[in-house]
Formats: sequence, structure tokens, C-alpha cells
Amino acid sequence: MRFDIITIFPDFFAGPFDYGILKRARTTGLVEIATHDLRSFTHDRHRTVDDRPFGGGEGMVLKAQPIYDAVQSLNLSPKGERDRGRETVILLSAQGQPFTQSLAQELSTTERVVILCGRYEGVDERVNELLCDREISIGDYVLSGGELAAAVIVDAVVRLLPGALGNPDSSRFESFGADEVADLPDSADGPPRSTYGSGGLLDYPHYTRPADFMGMTIPEALSGGNHEVIRRWRRRMALKKTLENRPDLLERIEITDEDREILAELRGD
Ligand code: SAM
Repeated sequence: MRFDIITIFPDFFAGPFDYGILKRARTTGLVEIATHDLRSFTHDRHRTVDDRPFGGGEGMVLKAQPIYDAVQSLNLSPKGERDRGRETVILLSAQGQPFTQSLAQELSTTERVVILCGRYEGVDERVNELLCDREISIGDYVLSGGELAAAVIVDAVVRLLPGALGNPDSSRFESFGADEVADLPDSADGPPRSTYGSGGLLDYPHYTRPADFMGMTIPEALSGGNHEVIRRWRRRMALKKTLENRPDLLERIEITDEDREILAELRGD
């Protein structure tokens, strides 16, 4: 898989991509990440990438021409003829569709992802119309630029690539995990498989040694080694966290009879 990031701050990415899973994925050739300095695609002495907005108002707008030339230099298929599984161009924007784990999954199966980082008041809308397949927002807040958002997307996608994580199942048993893993059986002698996939819930709380930290002991359910007790406790805690922090997720997932009972208890019904 390859990412091409178009930005006015290419050096920004030296940090985020040089640690942990991302660094290993780059070193082993699982992913290639190229950054492109937007100013290299300007044609004036001052290397101008922005201009004042038509209609007046605050701030500056990134001009269409340098971004157009930068994308042209990547030799992609024209927008209308792109095979989305092979290549996609993303415009980062607070006005975009929300970035979610399922979108990360989708992008992780795409061979080539091009990311355009906006700055100032944003990007000339003709860039979006001419070049971009998707407009993506990483959350309901406004960042100063697309670079942090690009790093977030690259991180979330790369860890889903087969071979990126030490344990390939790790990314399947965590918050927002895919529904289909709910059917995976426990191994006969191993520990319970997390929540059998979070099935769209938030992850349950985790604990490690020591069992007693400043008088706070770990939940009893986790210490006995009873797989069924552990599974039930994890499911209950995943439901509790989701109910407390993201009740909206409960509207979108498939709830089992067991979940319904736990939720009724948690709600005090
Ligand atoms: N005027 C824009 C608005 O109100 O929607 C905000 C522009 S913002 C200051 C500059 C750039 O940061 C945007 O063009 C975009 O690339 C990036 N950006 C800001 N918030 C973002 C978000 N939530 N998700 C993704 N990118 C974002």
C-alpha cells in the first residue's frame, strides 16, 4: 500500500511516522508513505500557494493550481475513471464525512491513497470537484491544518494491514471491532477471545500486573481463570462503557438477549 500526502509542511510527518507500528510497517515495506511539498508545484518567485477568498471574508484559501499540478504528478487515473479499490484521493476537511473504523477498514484495502492537507480557510472547492473522491473529517472540531488529520488516518489504516501488528487478531478485538468476529470460537486451552469481537461496542477496561496497585485490586472476575466468567464480565463492561460514553453506538449494533439483560440492569430498569 502507498500513501501520497500533499502538504505545505512535509517535515511535519517526520515524527508521527517514525515510531512503533508505523515505523516497522515502513521499514518492512508493508507501506510506503511519500510526502509532497505543495510549494514545489508553484510557478512564481514567492512560491505562493494561497490567495484571498472571492466574496471577501477572513483568511486565505489554498489555490487550485499547485494542488492540481501536485496530483497530476502522481499519474493517477482521472477522477471519473478511478477504480476505488486501487486508488482514491481524499480531501481533508472539517466539512467532510466522519472518519470511522469502517472507513479505515475500507481504505486499508486500497492500493494507493492520496491525501490533500488543507490550511488557512481551506482549499479552493474546485480541487474537490475536479480531483477528490472523498472529503473526510476526523471529528467535529476545526484543526489548523490537515496534517494532524492525515497522520491520524495513516495510523488507523496502517495498523489494519495484514502483518502490521504482532498479533493479527489484535485489531479485530478492540473498540468498534468488526461484527463478523463475534462468531470466532475460543481456542480450547487459551484465554477467552476478548469480547468475541466488540461487534461495534467500545472496548472493555484492561488491567495488568500488579493485581493490587495502591490498594486498588483488579476485578475478581479476571483473577479466577474461568473463561465464561471473564467473557461475561468483559461483555458487561464493554456495554457499560458504551452506555456511558457513546450511547449512540448502541443504536447501530446487533444486541443479543444477554446484552439486553445486562443493559436493563445497567440502566436500573
Ligand atoms: N474554514 C474551514 C471550516 O470552517 O470548515 C476550516 C479550515 S481549517 C482552519 C484548515 C484545514 O485544516 C482544512 O482545510 C482541513 O484540511 C483541515 N482540517 C480542519 N479541521 C479538520 C477536521 N476536523 N478533519 C480533517 N481536516 C481538518
